[in-house]
Order: sequence, then C-alpha cells, then structure tokens
Amino acid sequence: MNYIIVDLEATCWEERGDKRNEIIEIGAVCVNDNLEVLGEYCQFVKPKNHPVLSEFCTKLTSITQSQVDCADEAPKVIASFIDWINSFDGDYILCSWGHYDRVQFKNDCELHSIDWSWTHRHISLKHQYGKIKGLRRPPGMKRALKSEKIELEGTHHRGIDDAKNILKIFKKYFQQWDFNDLFKPK
Ligand code: AMP
Ligand code: MG
Repeated sequence: MNYIIVDLEATCWEERGDKRNEIIEIGAVCVNDNLEVLGEYCQFVKPKNHPVLSEFCTKLTSITQSQVDCADEAPKVIASFIDWINSFDGDYILCSWGHYDRVQFKNDCELHSIDWSWTHRHISLKHQYGKIKGLRRPPGMKRALKSEKIELEGTHHRGIDDAKNILKIFKKYFQQWDFNDLFKPK
C-alpha cells in the first residue's frame, strides 16, 4: 500500500461570504508500508472563478499572485497529481488532516466536470487522531504537533510543508491508523 499524505491550500477571504473556495496548491508526500518516502508532489493551481488572490489569502498561505498566475488550471494539475499517484506500484490511500481536503478536491472536480471517484480512498487522520487520544474535539495540525512535541517545520499553510509535518504524526501513529475506515460515498 502507498499512503499519500496530502494537504491543499485554497482561495479564501477574511469574510466568508458566498464565494467558493478553489484549490491553489496541492502538496503531498508518498510513503510505503516501510514508511519510506517514495516521492513528493507540489504544484500550484490557477483558480477559475476568482483568479485574483485576496490579501488575506496571500498572507495566510504565503502563496503569491504570480505563483498562481503561472500555474495550470485544476483539470491539468489534478490529472498530473493522479498520474503521480499511479506512478508508484500498488494501491493508494489518501490521508489528510480532516475531511476538508477530500471535500475540496470533490468541489473542484465538480466545478470542472471531472471524475472525483479517485478521492474516495481517503481517511481523515485528524478524526482518527482525536479518537486515538480520546479527545472530544480533534485538534488542528498545529496543535497536534505541539502536543506531540514535534516541531512545525517550513511554512504553516503551505500545502507541501503541511503535508511533511502531517507525515511526522502519520509515522508516529502508523500502527494505530484504521485504513479500513475509508470514505463511503452515498
Ligand atoms: P490549511 O491546510 O490549514 O493550511 O488550510 C487549507 C485552506 O483552508 C487554506 O488555504 C484556506 O483556504 C483555508 N483556511 C485555513 N485557515 C483559514 C482561516 N483561518 N481563515 C480562512 N480560511 C482558512
Ligand atoms: Mg495546509
């Protein structure tokens, strides 16, 4: 089995409003059952509906306007991400800190009328971590790292750095994740 630890960044605004978030970065690391890192993926995505990033978004993520301007749109990047996942032999499970990343993939796939069934093989490490620890509310990544006394390396809210930090928690609790607890589409 290959485990794809993935973290997305998306367009956002200080006031939520009715604007729809779109992916602006896919960051991921692939590890095998021996917890060997097989590869890394990091691509920016040009959003379709709101191509100009808010100041709030660039501040939060540190992703610049020119980085998304130079990027491909979601269909091309998602296709390259799936190719990257399939470049490793064997099955895969997408692992992210929460359900947000899976839902964001689904939303962007629907926006561009592309298949999202490849996102079904997903578990939320955040919810499983909450259960393992017996917590009423599962913590955010930053808080989980802190309580594990694991250093947050790189830039928080950059997909690739968040994915690498989540990987450290993934490795620590590898024996305890329930990989059968996959998303069940209705
Ligand atoms: P994260 O993986 O925590 O960096 O968050 C993923 C995405 O969620 C970000 O790129 C934003 O679009 C959104 N997000 C995260 N934190 C906030 C926040 N405090 N306010 C608004 N949007 C946020
Ligand atoms: Mg992130």
